[in-house]
Amino acid sequence: MPPDIQTLLRQLGVNLQEFEGQDFHSYSPIDGALLASLRIDSGKQIEQKLERAELAARQWRQVPAPRRGELIRLFGEELRQHKTQLGELVTLEAGKILQEGLGEVQEMIDICDFAVGLSRQLYGLTIASERPGHRMMEVWHPLGVVGVISAFNFPVAVWAWNAALAFVCGNAVVWKPSEKTPLTALATQALFLKAMMHFNAQNNATQGIDAPVGLAELIIGEREAGAQMVADHRVALVSATGSTRMGRQVAEVCARRLTRTILELGGNNAMIVAPSADQEMAIRAITFSAVGTAGQRCTTLRRLFVHDSIYDTLVPRLKKVYSSLPIGNPLDKTTLVGPLIDRAAFDGMQAAIVAAQKEQGVVTGGERVTPTNTAAAYYVRPCLIEMPTQTEQMHHEVFAPIMYIVRYSDLAQAIAWNNAVPQGLSSSIFTTDLREAELFLSDVGSDCGIANVNIGPSGAEIGGAFGGEKDTGGGRESGSDAWKAYMRRSTNTVNYSHALPLAQGISFDI
Ligand code: NAD
Repeated sequence: MPPDIQTLLRQLGVNLQEFEGQDFHSYSPIDGALLASLRIDSGKQIEQKLERAELAARQWRQVPAPRRGELIRLFGEELRQHKTQLGELVTLEAGKILQEGLGEVQEMIDICDFAVGLSRQLYGLTIASERPGHRMMEVWHPLGVVGVISAFNFPVAVWAWNAALAFVCGNAVVWKPSEKTPLTALATQALFLKAMMHFNAQNNATQGIDAPVGLAELIIGEREAGAQMVADHRVALVSATGSTRMGRQVAEVCARRLTRTILELGGNNAMIVAPSADQEMAIRAITFSAVGTAGQRCTTLRRLFVHDSIYDTLVPRLKKVYSSLPIGNPLDKTTLVGPLIDRAAFDGMQAAIVAAQKEQGVVTGGERVTPTNTAAAYYVRPCLIEMPTQTEQMHHEVFAPIMYIVRYSDLAQAIAWNNAVPQGLSSSIFTTDLREAELFLSDVGSDCGIANVNIGPSGAEIGGAFGGEKDTGGGRESGSDAWKAYMRRSTNTVNYSHALPLAQGISFDI
């Protein structure tokens, strides 16, 4: 029995009536059914949300960071309690298989745990001063308001990667989610407000500073709403996830007002399968990286370079695996490939297949399939396209399960192809040859933000910094020291001597 949307939303604390209207509609990619019709925020409402966020940030920065971490711990608890419902909602609204929907919520829980620990470690350096009796140090302060724009394919985790860090770093967060996935955003916001309520109840006993109204604001709207937020001078950092087209528009506006950005944009990820590769492992990795989330991950495997000596064994085996992939309702436990998000995604995929054929591509799969009750939805058989070389078409990210395959004979050529596209998100090599693996990871190897050995390009862990180079935007989110992007650095010099030695040997009489 598929979960009922009204019940799910109620369990997650959303009163849908508060948001209902006729401005835009949320459809399930599973069967094309209308999930909800919503109002979009007016320009004035967005303005009010930004104003509330600015006031909230001024208050929140006064709360000690470990205490801010307590709010995120409470939010993590809400997520644990509601993991099933939120995971199901992700599946209903974004169409990813249930295990991936649940996995997305698990990532939110994981980043909360990470952020709670981080809240006791927002450390700066002390630096040796050249002047006697002086101490230099750097200290990190909150930025203010952080604006988050997210894409449909990770409708809630991307917000959490940003927001969990931004909150412990002392900021308020304003979120403009994808117009294709507003309900998961409403549910996440409801859970966060509940965590704030618990936090403030604790404060009644300890007289701490409350988590203020406006700390987390949600804007429901289309790209114009995002554009209004991006242009607003109160937003000190814009973290935008989505297409490279969107990223360029956001970057231009932010550059004009000299505001910081974290850009997490399109990928066009490759894998090299070398002669010494463990082919069993490679086939599993290729399959999930290429068809998981129906090819709609930024880290999806899109280009496969297979060594000439193994091509004729590996590629036929891959075709066999592709011929029996379980495609269907993502709520069904046996399904591996769910639907595309919408008709536009299907049309884009078909156009790309035609373009590849014009470049001598030999296509296997790619056609529309119609599991039961899905006439209004877009399911496809994932597609393999054998190409004679890396062609112009392969330089574009097509957000669908198309994987191009090219033979190589020289590793230097395969690495050059890996790097020749405009995007630079993720990459991997399958090899058991240490020299090849190290070369791939070296300065002259992969130019991507993520480079893996013997695992596919998709499925990053939250502990590492996530992001990519070139047209992927250069931003880093999530683990490692990505938190620094949500704070401003202040270099402090303290003179505890009785003299005032000036820099550069300057002396003067007064
Ligand atoms: P999209 O660019 O169409 O939309 C993303 C978001 O940007 C939406 O919320 C949209 O309303 C907003 N937006 C669009 N134009 C805007 C503008 N001018 N100003 C402000 N906001 C604007 O992307 P999509 O179709 O939702 O997602 C797919 C894309 O996202 C793919 O290219 C994928 O690779 C990329 N993506 C990247 C990452 C990453 O971490 N690098 C992660 C997920 C998705």
